Amino acid sequence: MSLYELKEVSFSYEKEPVLKDLQLEIREGSFLGLLGPNGSGKTTLLRLLSGALSPQKGNVFFKGQEVSLMEPAERARAMGVVPQEFNLDFPFVLEEVVAMGRYPYLPWWGALGAMDQEKIEEALYITGLERLRKRTINRLSGGERQRGVIARALAQDPQVLLLDEPVSNLDIRYQQEVFELLARLNHDRDLTIILVSHDLNLAAQYCSELALLSQGSIKAMGSPKKVLEAGLVESTYGVAVEVAENALTGRPQVSLLPHRARAAGEIENGPWVHVIGGGGSAQQILYGLKRWGFRASLGVVNAGDTDAEVARRLDIPRVLEAPFSAISAGAREANEKYIEQADFLLIADVPFGGGNMANLELALEAARRGCRVLRIKGKSIEERDYTGGSAAWLWEVLGSLGAIDIELEEVFNHLKGGVESE
Ligand code: ADP
Repeated sequence: MSLYELKEVSFSYEKEPVLKDLQLEIREGSFLGLLGPNGSGKTTLLRLLSGALSPQKGNVFFKGQEVSLMEPAERARAMGVVPQEFNLDFPFVLEEVVAMGRYPYLPWWGALGAMDQEKIEEALYITGLERLRKRTINRLSGGERQRGVIARALAQDPQVLLLDEPVSNLDIRYQQEVFELLARLNHDRDLTIILVSHDLNLAAQYCSELALLSQGSIKAMGSPKKVLEAGLVESTYGVAVEVAENALTGRPQVSLLPHRARAAGEIENGPWVHVIGGGGSAQQILYGLKRWGFRASLGVVNAGDTDAEVARRLDIPRVLEAPFSAISAGAREANEKYIEQADFLLIADVPFGGGNMANLELALEAARRGCRVLRIKGKSIEERDYTGGSAAWLWEVLGSLGAIDIELEEVFNHLKGGVESE
């Protein structure tokens, strides 16, 4: 069942709309991370969900009720809000701060009853703060303080927690502590959690769903894997990234790529290496070439191929053919232009069939012109010849023209050696 439903919601502080025609459904029990660049409207969206702001157009429904029409106390009982900044002028002790969460339940004369005490105790217990209850909040560590603010929201006995960058000022240990607490609340108590996060990786690890905002619209929503797709992150944030899968959790992990990946020993204006690969056979080669600062190109590969994707991420030029299509005359010609400029031609441990034989033919032409051809040692050519012997024959001719067979681990040293001896 949906807890929140937003229908064509638009909001502006001044003239310019900050959120535009937003359609959104948030399931009860979800753990949703709102992501997006600065100014994309995340905090505004969170404040619309809590009822702190009302949309100029459209509706925000909470369990079918329009949020802006709910009584403030009713909203406060339903929604626990953890703001970005939590400052109190007075040095309250932690217990008093947590007790503030009960205000929406108190009669006007304000005495805490047995039920209120029970909820306060429970909130202190869940957040592991019982021991610190008498401490003034300015004597708590960042993590304890943030757990205290969460305890205050929990004492409200809310149906949803709305948090704005709950870990932005915390070191990684406290970040984990807070996210673990939220994950437990979500899992054990089925509490819906909606948070704004700048940390794509923390959100990817803990949230069950992500929504990516850009310029006031939702660009993508769904599982972390779906939302943190490299192309989508790159176009939204305007950065180069690599997205890998965490081997343990299976969740995506985003790394920023420097404009030009540099490493110790990088060669300035190193030689140009053209790579023949496909199906992931050239992945490690492409990363290595980039890391060592060689100029590289790849081709011909089919669009959507793993190697084509890696090259795209690494900003390595590539010659593409349509998916599942044999190399066309046009792609062959484009590839030839790259190979003509290359100092080395590197052939990955890739199978050859009718579709990519043109690459091998180009390698032969290059070898005849005196281009240095390196072949990565792998399976024997017979094992990966799907042309009925033509590939194996070209392979042999290539060998007689001086192509060198080399282990993958050796190839970068070989290329560097080639540079140094020149
Ligand atoms: P985010 O949380 O994604 O960084 P916000 O929702 O805080 O984005 O802000 C979205 C846009 O609205 C920004 O351009 C910001 O400058 C503007 N904005 C935010 N708060 C106000 C305000 N109180 N008055 C005017 N403009 C605001």
